[in-house]
Amino acid sequence: MQRLPLIGLFGIVIYVQAWPAKIPIQSYAMPGDREQGIIAAFNFTVERHNNNRMNPFKFGHRNRDMRTSAADTWGVTKKLCDDLQSGFMLMIAGETSRLHSAFLGVADHLEIPFINWDLSPLMPQDVGPNSMEVSMRPPTAELLADLIIQKNWSYIIYMHEGRNSQNVNQIYNFIHQKSNRSVRSEIILIPRDPSDFGDFLQKFNLQRFLSNEPKRIIIDVQTSYRQQQFLAAIRAAQFNQHHYHYVVANFDFSPYDIEVFQNGNTNITGFQLLSRERGEYAALKRHVESQKFYPTPDKNIDIESRLAFVHDAILVAKAAFEQTLRKNDSLFHQNFRHGDLFNRGYPGIFCHPRYDAKYEDRPFGTFEHGRAIVKALHAVQLGEKDGTLTGHIEFDRFGFRKNFEVTVVDLVSNSKSAFNKKETMEWKQSVGFIANRTVAQHTRKNLGDQSSKKIVKVATVLVEPFVMIKRGCENASKNGTECQGNERYEGYCIDLLQLLSHRIDEFEYEIFLSAGNKYGVKQPDGSWNGLIGYLLNGEADVVVASLTINQERERVVDFSKPFMTTGISIMIKKPDKQEFSVFSFMQPLSTEIWMYIIFAYVGVSVVIFLVSRFSPYEWRVEEMTNGGFTISNDFSVYNCLWFTLAAFMQQGTDILPRSISGRIASSAWWFFTMIIVSSYTANLAAFLTLEKMQAPIESVEDLAKQTKIKYGIQQGGSTAQFFQYSSVQIYQRMWRYMESQVPTVFTSTYAEGIDRVRNHKGRYAFLLEATANEYANTRKPCDTMKVGANLNSVGYGVATPFGSEYKDHINLAILALQERGELKKLENKWWYDRGQCDQGITDGSSASLNLSKVAGIFYILMGGMIASMIAALCEFLYRSRIEARKGRINNMQNLRDSLYAQLRLSFQGGAIAKEGSQAHEALKRQKASAMLPAQYTDPMTSEEFMSTSKNAFNTRYNTAV
Ligand code: ASP
Repeated sequence: MQRLPLIGLFGIVIYVQAWPAKIPIQSYAMPGDREQGIIAAFNFTVERHNNNRMNPFKFGHRNRDMRTSAADTWGVTKKLCDDLQSGFMLMIAGETSRLHSAFLGVADHLEIPFINWDLSPLMPQDVGPNSMEVSMRPPTAELLADLIIQKNWSYIIYMHEGRNSQNVNQIYNFIHQKSNRSVRSEIILIPRDPSDFGDFLQKFNLQRFLSNEPKRIIIDVQTSYRQQQFLAAIRAAQFNQHHYHYVVANFDFSPYDIEVFQNGNTNITGFQLLSRERGEYAALKRHVESQKFYPTPDKNIDIESRLAFVHDAILVAKAAFEQTLRKNDSLFHQNFRHGDLFNRGYPGIFCHPRYDAKYEDRPFGTFEHGRAIVKALHAVQLGEKDGTLTGHIEFDRFGFRKNFEVTVVDLVSNSKSAFNKKETMEWKQSVGFIANRTVAQHTRKNLGDQSSKKIVKVATVLVEPFVMIKRGCENASKNGTECQGNERYEGYCIDLLQLLSHRIDEFEYEIFLSAGNKYGVKQPDGSWNGLIGYLLNGEADVVVASLTINQERERVVDFSKPFMTTGISIMIKKPDKQEFSVFSFMQPLSTEIWMYIIFAYVGVSVVIFLVSRFSPYEWRVEEMTNGGFTISNDFSVYNCLWFTLAAFMQQGTDILPRSISGRIASSAWWFFTMIIVSSYTANLAAFLTLEKMQAPIESVEDLAKQTKIKYGIQQGGSTAQFFQYSSVQIYQRMWRYMESQVPTVFTSTYAEGIDRVRNHKGRYAFLLEATANEYANTRKPCDTMKVGANLNSVGYGVATPFGSEYKDHINLAILALQERGELKKLENKWWYDRGQCDQGITDGSSASLNLSKVAGIFYILMGGMIASMIAALCEFLYRSRIEARKGRINNMQNLRDSLYAQLRLSFQGGAIAKEGSQAHEALKRQKASAMLPAQYTDPMTSEEFMSTSKNAFNTRYNTAV
């Protein structure tokens, strides 16, 4: 509210309301306008204006939806007059077509300022200099005339919807003014129903099929929606449009259209007036789209220029009122009383003189400030800095826009190249095409057309084996020419660049490295660093590196088709090889199992002993020559142990059980030993020949759930972004973990990360792309390895700035290289042929059994031999001692004799006892006694024998004779 201060009687400042802060303005919407967002655009702009506290007044905006038939001029006039009775100071309407005369009639008659957010259908000469109307949509006639002149066209076809056909006359006027050429034209009406567009074009083509004359068609449709439908019909047309050149004559040629037509082969020119980059544009678009009724036939379609004109109409109204009030800020003081609009001291504005009981003397009068406001309207000058969406706004004396600038986008198909050439030109009203501001974006132009040779600046990063500095070239200045320029580098990407340069004409390049070896991420302020930054600020033309394609980057630069695919993987230090002790052959079975086997062995021996004792079938009864019987059992404790051991060792003994019980026990044991021995054998083979490397981490899940092994990634690249923005819980957790680590687990390069893996004794794992991981694993000291599957799948692409002339050529070259297997060859060259390590889990040396693993069994063999020799010695001494004891003479003498006798026998390996000798006699006796069972032998006989046989022939040695 604006209030005027009055000094009251007692010196107190009293504010009285001078006039309501809301200046009444009235808009009129034609049928369909509301649905197309016109009202939403009005409301948005008025609300924004009213909410701005800096504005000295507010608008009281009212809208009336017109539901009249198109020709009902009288009805419209009546409505306007009704509304005027309650009063408004400015009228806004647009696309009034045939109703225009009603609006303009009321405006002129009552001097009501009128903003037409569209283009007035009148010609300047018909308007006259004192018109109450200003038009927001700039006229296109001069622009079209300039275009026709510039293109040197002599024949045009003007397709319109009935409303703007007189535009052709104006085009002619301008052509005549600016040149002396003659241009023929044909005017064709476009059908109303969009479904007829296809047929219409088809027919149009058929009629002109035989003439080879180029067809330059200017399309002038009323709404952006219809324009889209018409352009879709052009794209879908199944005839050769080689000789066609379309010109879209309103300002709704959107970036989407450019994108679509650029990839086709249609010649088309369009005009752009909107400042689409402005925040205001985005806010308006959002607001209009949020009104559900607004039809968005295609998400890609921008808001129409009509909405921008509506928006700017309010800005113009605001500027005009500001201007009026600036001259005299109390101008409206008398106009507002009790919330009503008073004109010349009487409420409301009336179209006709009328009798009023209250105001008998009411004269008929026009709006008292109308002229002043219109004057201000004509003087308005607004620019983008004032928030306009349609550029510079200024009106000529007829109320038409002047000095506006238009971007002309020209897409011309080039028969030499498979793609369209895009040229962007700036045009200014009354100036024409601004030559030095023509931006030729020859996105798809043949490179061969370039007049001067250009060296392509290629940015890259040092990552093995993609780009490496050649050995000996570390210090570029030291060496001669072989380390200068591109010669300094080698690697996969360098080879790829060479292949690209062979395939693309005029592709001479110069490689440079990204400072800090950075790939590029978006900074908080929206800028980019690293390789992407170089492309955006123009320091590089192309990036050839192991640069991952991701959506954030794809938004700001163009990527070629991927030349290699990979994914994030884990690198760890190779675990130390398994330690082998000399007793490794024991390892196939655990100590526990060995213990159980020993218990089982003793237990089974005892069981066999017991069952053999109790089973009658195990007892052997033998008849002796003297008629007696011996009863014996083979399974003594000693024999049982021997029998069981022999079975375990898979050997046989000459004693075997005969009883069922004994056989059952033995069979069970044999079965047991069979399984144990075969399991042992199987395990032993695997165990001794393979050196198993038990990795501490086998997957990303393992890595995430532990804290002993730290893990990290390279900063400032796609891998970091992957973790940072992942919606997968485990990766989110890993990202939080990595962020929280002090000292940091992030590295600035892959090389730093790989070094860290190598030097941290298995306490650090590094997440990097599999390509670099696999390469590092093939390099000495061969102490790293990749574990687990890749976390994602990504591709590397060659990046170029938007609109780069190299993009398509690089794309085609990469596809060709891929199809011919050249890329695979390169991959083999840099990854596999140069490997320095044996790959796989075994290495050559461990495939064969070496002594260190089986030395133990040799020790056991030696131990066994030594034990047996000691046992033999003990037996020898023990027996000699027994023998010596048996002799009843001198003990010492006897012992010595006995020893000698046995020694001699041992060395001779045998002896002959001659008949008549003492030994012979003794043996004879012994033989006779041996016929008797031991227990029946007369001990004296034996002892006698032993004492007499000084040559030490006793029963034990009889077999040795
Ligand atoms: N190749 C990756 C990139 O383009 C590097 C990484 O972050 O792992 O950013």
